[in-house]
Amino acid sequence: MKKIKLKPGKEESVKRHHPWIFSGAIATIEEPIEEGEPVEVLTSKGDKIASGHYQIGSIAVRLLEFGDKEITEDLYSRRLQSAFEMRKALNLIRPDNNCYRLVHGEGDFLPGLVVDIYGDTAVVQAHSPGMHLERMKIADALITLPHANIRNVYYKSDTTLPYKAHLDPTNEYLIGKYDGCIALENGLQFNIDWLKGQKTGFFIDQRENRRLLESYSGGREVLNMFCYTGGFSVYALRGNAKRVVSVDSSSKAIELTEANVNINFPEDSRHSAIAEDAFKYLDSVEKGEFDLLVLDPPAFAKHRNALKNGLIGYRKLNLKGFEKIRKGGIMFTFSCSQVVTKEMFRLAVFTAAAQSGRKVRILHQLTQPADHPVDISHPEGEYLKGLVLYVE
Ligand code: SAH
Repeated sequence: MKKIKLKPGKEESVKRHHPWIFSGAIATIEEPIEEGEPVEVLTSKGDKIASGHYQIGSIAVRLLEFGDKEITEDLYSRRLQSAFEMRKALNLIRPDNNCYRLVHGEGDFLPGLVVDIYGDTAVVQAHSPGMHLERMKIADALITLPHANIRNVYYKSDTTLPYKAHLDPTNEYLIGKYDGCIALENGLQFNIDWLKGQKTGFFIDQRENRRLLESYSGGREVLNMFCYTGGFSVYALRGNAKRVVSVDSSSKAIELTEANVNINFPEDSRHSAIAEDAFKYLDSVEKGEFDLLVLDPPAFAKHRNALKNGLIGYRKLNLKGFEKIRKGGIMFTFSCSQVVTKEMFRLAVFTAAAQSGRKVRILHQLTQPADHPVDISHPEGEYLKGLVLYVE
């Protein structure tokens, strides 16, 4: 295995089991080396302290083992088994719930890998060249995972791998074939289209937050902004909302939302869906028309250099929400940008509240669900932030 030697003092974060080595921490790299190759990481004194996958970029190594442990053949089976045990402990695998995140990268000690399960299909996303090269081993480990009943493995990494890596990932079935399914989430049905949908086909990370919204929906008029597959809308309808309007700028998302509403609540006249830009739609809304608002936009800041504009975006969006919501209304507002911290998001939302002149109180502070765990050695893994606000 090729060796990578760190600069003096740069082993400290590795000792705390942080799973990344930044390129600036590296003194020497044994050449020739290919992207994705397994490497050993040495201290400046030459002692082995970790092993992982090498890649070109700011994060140069994603670590899979610490100390002098080898990366063994059964690594994926062991880690998948432990990830599966945890999901069972979370009671996510039930007759009325068959979709969940099985692997959440660093949070499941498999940096660079995401696996979402929909019924008997696993949708695999590689975020690192190392995991891309290992995709067949991972697929085999998924299929043989005891009691998980996984039959098909679809690989979908065309948008998640580093652009410069020239890996040319093809979206394809690695094992089996099954084009889309109706998955169950908390007893509700959702069409999942991993072939054409965003990410792995569905945003599993809002499951618990959708359930909370359901509990507040009774008798309310709900605006689900950035609805995508209509998850929040379907829960609101089950929660006896008086009216639900779903809005997304993508007409494909509107079709998905309508299909998902129809399988759960056929011909329900309480629901309508509109393809429109969020800001334009909010401008057209009458003040006080809605008393339950969901604002779940795409990441406004995908990188650190987009942070300033991203925060302005969150402030402006939330300001529109505060201006339009009825007195006594409840607003669910989210940010899924990893580079936006909880504090930054709160500041953007609180600034918007102050600018609107509305009296606002925090009811809940939300985050990602337990099947998207955060390794305490890697606090960066916490990405989803949400606030539920009572607006007078
Ligand atoms: N709330 C959804 C996930 C939202 S993903 C869920 O629970 O599954 C973000 C969505 O925002 C995408 O579907 C995208 O099409 C939509 N979007 C992006 N920019 C938009 C804009 N300016 N106006 C309205 N929708 C937009």
